[in-house]
Amino acid sequence: MNFYSLNKKAQNVSFKNAVINGIAPDRGLYFPESITPLPDSFFGKIENLSNTEIAFRAIHQFVADEIPDDILKDILKEVLDFDFPIVEIEENIATLELFHGPTMAFKDVGARFMAHCLGYFSKGEKNEVTVLVATSGDTGGAVANGFLGVEGVNVVILYPSGKVSDIQERQLTTLGQNITALEVDGTFDDCQKMVKTAFLDEELLKEMKLTSANSINVARWLPQLFYFLFAYKQVKSKGKEIVFSVPSGNFGNICAGMVAQRLGMPVKHFIASTNANDTVPEFMRTKSYDPKPSTATISNAMDVGDPSNFIRIRHLFQDDFELLSKTLSSHSFTDSETKNALLEIYQNSKYIADPHGAVGYLGLKKHQENHPDTYGIFLETAHPVKFLDVVEETIGKQLEIPPQIKKVMGKDKKSIRTIEYEELKKYLLER
Ligand SMILES: *Cc1c(COP(=O)(O)O)cnc(C)c1O
Repeated sequence: MNFYSLNKKAQNVSFKNAVINGIAPDRGLYFPESITPLPDSFFGKIENLSNTEIAFRAIHQFVADEIPDDILKDILKEVLDFDFPIVEIEENIATLELFHGPTMAFKDVGARFMAHCLGYFSKGEKNEVTVLVATSGDTGGAVANGFLGVEGVNVVILYPSGKVSDIQERQLTTLGQNITALEVDGTFDDCQKMVKTAFLDEELLKEMKLTSANSINVARWLPQLFYFLFAYKQVKSKGKEIVFSVPSGNFGNICAGMVAQRLGMPVKHFIASTNANDTVPEFMRTKSYDPKPSTATISNAMDVGDPSNFIRIRHLFQDDFELLSKTLSSHSFTDSETKNALLEIYQNSKYIADPHGAVGYLGLKKHQENHPDTYGIFLETAHPVKFLDVVEETIGKQLEIPPQIKKVMGKDKKSIRTIEYEELKKYLLER
């Protein structure tokens, strides 16, 4: 399948080149030329399929011809080697736990899939690829883990100093090998800006092949649609209309859910739940898209003021606001509302959510006030232990530390302090 640039001023490219380029030469995001629904029989018998089979059938049309089927299957088997359970916490409310992977946030699947694809495409190539990525928290760890030791690929991660949790920081600064962390004096937006500047820097591009591992990259973005299919497989027998509430930052995950809907998955509605960074909730209220600088919150992986994937969502709905608002609602919540939700969920259901999941829960509750007949699923995008201080303080209970996290807690951080773009450039050129 070919992909076109949403800015419409660049050539259409294969999946391989979309992955290697990251973003099109006209700065547009890549989008698949077509999305062909899967047959009804696929959804009719989905409960009989393994996760790997579901994923293969769903992603095949986008990847076909670029990666042979048997290799694609092997990649998916490795990428999906953990569980994605639905846990019902109240009547008609369940959470989809996406944190059972190596870095305990949902980004593991996208990051590992992209690492495998890029590793496959780099085989036999003389020139190394440098993956440049900005992180608001969890992307860095997932990308570091997914790309560790992948030959022909170097990874440089930019993260905002003091604005990621201790565990998140350790996950992205302690691996070494082909992974380097740059600690930026600034916000996530500053990191993202530096990355974008690098992608436009002709001098730099002459010297090296740069790509992005943010969800703008199709190999990071598309595999996220699997989650929604795995959820559907588990709740289909409820026989109710399904709504998903997705804690959203860059809007890649929820947009992938909408692609699953285009593949024919029966889902009634999506709720984009955000923290104080309310650019999209405001857009859905006023029809006016006004990006703002990001604000720091306790759900830091969603501290995004100008969500890069929202343009893909608008495109999916032909930029028709009325059409979009039939499928999407969006609500914003404060940190104190989020903490109250953490406590409420714990007290009512003995379930420990993380701040991102709690935002998703709040959005779902709000939607169900007017749509009580739906079966609501909110995505638990990270394990609560990644936000240890906030969660323990809010629910008044100590969390058990899982082995994946214990492993990084004893390791020492290694990062390079960076203040401005010129330093990043110098580092990349002189490495
Ligand atoms: C990245 C992240 C999000 C936001 O996902 P997007 O695809 O950027 O909208 C939500 N929760 C957690 C824990 C994350 O790491």
